[in-house]
Amino acid sequence: MHQRLEQALCEFLGVRHLSLFNNCTIGLITALQALRINGEVITTPYSFVATAHSLLWNGITPVFVDIDPETLNIDPDRIEAAITPRTTAILAVHCYGTPCDVDRIREIASRYNLRVIYDAAHAFGVTCHCGSVLQHGDLSVLSFHATKVFNTFEGGAIVSATPEMKRHIDQLKNFGFVDEVTVTSPGINGKMNEVQAAFGLLQLRDMGQSIARRQRVDGAYRQGLWGLTGIRCLPEPAWGQGNFSYFPILVEPGYALTRDELYDFMKSRGVHCRRYFYPLISAFPMYRGLPSSRHVNLPVAERVAQQILCLPIYPDLPETTVARIIDLIARKL
Ligand SMILES: *Cc1c(COP(=O)(O)O)cnc(C)c1O
Repeated sequence: MHQRLEQALCEFLGVRHLSLFNNCTIGLITALQALRINGEVITTPYSFVATAHSLLWNGITPVFVDIDPETLNIDPDRIEAAITPRTTAILAVHCYGTPCDVDRIREIASRYNLRVIYDAAHAFGVTCHCGSVLQHGDLSVLSFHATKVFNTFEGGAIVSATPEMKRHIDQLKNFGFVDEVTVTSPGINGKMNEVQAAFGLLQLRDMGQSIARRQRVDGAYRQGLWGLTGIRCLPEPAWGQGNFSYFPILVEPGYALTRDELYDFMKSRGVHCRRYFYPLISAFPMYRGLPSSRHVNLPVAERVAQQILCLPIYPDLPETTVARIIDLIARKL
């Protein structure tokens, strides 16, 4: 089942080399091990905390760089200023499935001889100007957690650029075994189990339809929220195929409530929105003492973290419920 799912995902995603994992976090930790990353790594504070935790678990110092106000991904204009002699890699996130500026990042990385790893937890099935966004960087790491577009309850995968790298990662996820009696690296147990893989194969059958149904919800939200003062949606995917995994809105000063007031109000009416991503990773105790965590370094991320609200989105979300959520936000109910 494991091998069949790897094959099926390669076909579905349009990638050549994919290794299944028991979750994305172990995948990120293993990806950093596979490339022997150390020293400092440039990353974004605007992500799920596992992104930076994977660096700490490898003894690496995260260096946070502010985000672009439109894409909410790491701002390529600010990467170079954060590079030091200790920098070895860039760990970027395709936030909400919006592709990073992969060309600029590749260009900077090659100029400074840095590795690039993408936390692609949100980017299942996303394409950009030249096919799957997962083909960029040295490695891309997916999450198949239950909250993601494609899930195996818990799960993940690493996409590699070469068969040699896939083989190395397959060894690392299996304790470092090369054959029955030979262990060549300090591997981990990162394998996806057979039951999860079987579930993934079943789920993959409906993926096209599931993404199409999410797209309809996305469209209904955009139409219903259009023109509402103080509520801003992110741009529609213009780069290629999105996966509609999240529906983030920014609650800006023109709106009647603050983001937290709107969050509480919606919750009181039984609508559970999520503040992804708040607090910023750089605000958590193990990161906030870093020089790059200072407020002056991250003005855009700090503002967005105060304004962001992700609305419910899933394939069977009924049209009537979407309409009710829009009416609640428009303060008609
Ligand atoms: C969900 C998520 C992860 C962690 O994935 P797991 O499979 O739960 O370990 C990492 N990074 C981002 C951006 C995520 O959204």
